[in-house]
Amino acid sequence: MAEGGLRGFLEDHGYKRVDGEVDPEYGVTEILASGDGPLLFRVKRAPVECGGNIVSSRHAVLKALNASSEPEAYEKLLKAMSNPLPLKVSGAPRLKEAPRGLYDAPAVRFYEGEGGPYLTASIFIACWRGVCNASIHRVMVVGEREGRVRVVPRHLWRLYREAVGEGSDLPVTVVLGVHPAVLLASASSPRLGVFELEVASALLGGLDAFESPLHGNPVPSGAGVVIEGWLTRETAPEGPFVDATGTLDVVREQPVLKVEGVYYDPDQASHVILPAGREHAMLMGFPREAQIWAAVSQVVPRVHAVRLTPASGGWLHAIIAIEKNHDGDAKNAIMAAFAGHPSLKHVVVVDPDIDVDDPGDVEWAIATRFQADRDLVIVRNARGSTLDPSAPHGLTAKVGLDATKPLEGGVEYEKATRIPGRGFVKVR
Ligand code: MN
Repeated sequence: MAEGGLRGFLEDHGYKRVDGEVDPEYGVTEILASGDGPLLFRVKRAPVECGGNIVSSRHAVLKALNASSEPEAYEKLLKAMSNPLPLKVSGAPRLKEAPRGLYDAPAVRFYEGEGGPYLTASIFIACWRGVCNASIHRVMVVGEREGRVRVVPRHLWRLYREAVGEGSDLPVTVVLGVHPAVLLASASSPRLGVFELEVASALLGGLDAFESPLHGNPVPSGAGVVIEGWLTRETAPEGPFVDATGTLDVVREQPVLKVEGVYYDPDQASHVILPAGREHAMLMGFPREAQIWAAVSQVVPRVHAVRLTPASGGWLHAIIAIEKNHDGDAKNAIMAAFAGHPSLKHVVVVDPDIDVDDPGDVEWAIATRFQADRDLVIVRNARGSTLDPSAPHGLTAKVGLDATKPLEGGVEYEKATRIPGRGFVKVR
């Protein structure tokens, strides 16, 4: 029985199986970086199989959200965030205890210079004083029962601080290997109090969940690995780790995860996300594209496409294609995009005839439709992203480029067109 989980998604939509066993020391990086379709593989010594590159393409994200276009997927995600659906509680599956604890999840070494083996597809589920939250956090594994968790100051951080303020560690249940809609929901940012698993439930038209063995936290049915533990008051250095930008993130003092037990379902699969890979960028970027799309749609007649570019980690750079009614619309689109995604650093607004997935086409628009003294927006010392090594203390300059042609622009702004079918001329 596999429906609901990651393995069920792979069985329904197809995958390639990797023969043999993959080395947890740098081997997983090699197989995930060399392909972009879904893979199922076995990491040496790990008791549970692993999926990878599950949503490494837009096509796969649309399948995960059962949508036929990006705007439809954005609408679905936004609607689910404001209309979460309660979980359906079902019986717990037979789980086995993993003999090597966190190493069996499995923990994997990705790049040279990192602080240790990591879990990357780890969703932290925590409930404190009636507020439940699910979010993705990397775990640096330092022992079978001990990890260090990067917790950015958002919702999990808030629950953790509240628990610590009351003199308690925060009980957490960490799950790996879930339906990608659960991952996308956990990567989205509904307001505090909206439980991301209930967002996933709305996306999927209902989500079954069982109670975790120790804390009784809800776990999505079909999860491959379930870890019971505590986010403790103790902190320790976490990192370095290669983050979405493909650079080594710095070492920080972060909360220590103390583990009571690591369990796996032998019929299901765990999941490894390659840091700085396409899946990483897609999971970070797609939910933010939805928010940019919503924000820009408020201020211009029609948003044709939104892309957070893969080269910027799906995070720092956006290309937005709009139809405008007024020559000032592109500047308003720039401001709305910065409001919709506060980590955004550079944004280029183009006309609908530009292919937002082709950096060359975007550059062509900048070369032929943009003048810096007229079309450039610079905001100094705004809040930026900690992922950007050039933004000290999270302060950044934001830049917007209006690379749209003027509404009254003539034929000189158009792309030259070819007349097809004249390539070969008969010579007598
Ligand atoms: Mn949240």
